[in-house]
This record gives sequence, structure tokens and C-alpha cells, in this order.
Amino acid sequence: NEFVREEFSKGALRNKTVEDVLTPLDECFVLSADSVLDFSCMSAIMQSGYTRIPVYEEERSNLVDMLYVKDLAFVDPNDCVPLSTIIKFYNHPLHFVFNDTKLDAVLEEFKRGKSHLAIVQKVNNEGEGDPFYEAIGLVTLEDVIEEIIKSEILDE
Ligand code: ADP
Repeated sequence: NEFVREEFSKGALRNKTVEDVLTPLDECFVLSADSVLDFSCMSAIMQSGYTRIPVYEEERSNLVDMLYVKDLAFVDPNDCVPLSTIIKFYNHPLHFVFNDTKLDAVLEEFKRGKSHLAIVQKVNNEGEGDPFYEAIGLVTLEDVIEEIIKSEILDE
């Protein structure tokens, strides 16, 4: 039974893609790169409860940076510091994966890298212009682990 369970959860990891488990972009808490870290902005960040917040330029689907809530430890809301100043100072790398990446591959990536969050990209070839990549959501280690646990429970 142990064996069956293991095979089952491996199957879920092999067969499902990040697109099946991601948090869709319209449900993501993100910030515009031109935000100012005033009281209302910092309260919204704290109330979101997330530890990592993607930052976009121009459009939500154009994610370019990452803010960690702990970067705000020395920020005084009264100073109204531009978000861009903090982003440039900490300069956290962003990780991207394609929408069709299998969960086992993204799990390996999470194990190797320092970050346990990746932005999910998809090719947009609608419309007249050239196809381009756009963000459709984010996936974290927690989303992958949840999938493993779900498949194990279904197996009981
Ligand atoms: P956190 O440490 O911020 O709680 P986790 O990695 O534990 O984040 O992920 C918990 C869930 O929240 C996952 O489903 C993940 O996709 C989602 N998530 C993480 N960051 C954000 C964000 N900025 N906006 C919306 N959802 C997020």
C-alpha cells in the first residue's frame, strides 16, 4: 500500500502541470512598481498576509520584480519611500516557469533554488502582433505540496 501511494503521488506530480495548481493572476496580490510605501500601501501589504509580493510595470501581466514583506522592516510609512527604491536595494531574483511545466519538474526547481515561488508564463498569440509571454499566475512550493497531499488522501 505504501508503494501504491507513492506511485500515485508521483503520478500526480508527473501528470499535472503548474497551470493546474497556480494562483491565477487576477487573484494575486501584486503591486505596481510606481507605488509609494505610505501608510495605506503598507497596511494593504500587511493585511494581504503574503510573504512575497510580485511587482509589475504598466500591466499586471508584466511582472518584473519581487518584494519580500521582510524588506519593509526598516521602512517608515511617514517617509513615503518609493517602492522602486526598496526593490532596487534588495534586488531579489524572479523565477519564471512555463504553464505546461510538470509539477515534478517545478518541485525539483524549488528544491534546487533559493526561492519557493515562481511566476507562471504563457505564450499569448491572440491578436495581430507577434506572440509574447505573459504572466498568468504564480505557483509556490505550498501549491505543489498541497497537490501531493490531495492525491494521497484520494488514494485512501
Ligand atoms: P505565503 O508564504 O505568502 O503564505 P505560500 O508559499 O505559503 O505563501 O503560498 C500559500 C498560497 O498563497 C499558495 O496557494 C500561493 O499560490 C498563494 N500566494 C503566495 N503569494 C501570493 C500573492 N502575492 N498573491 C496571491 N496569492 C499568493
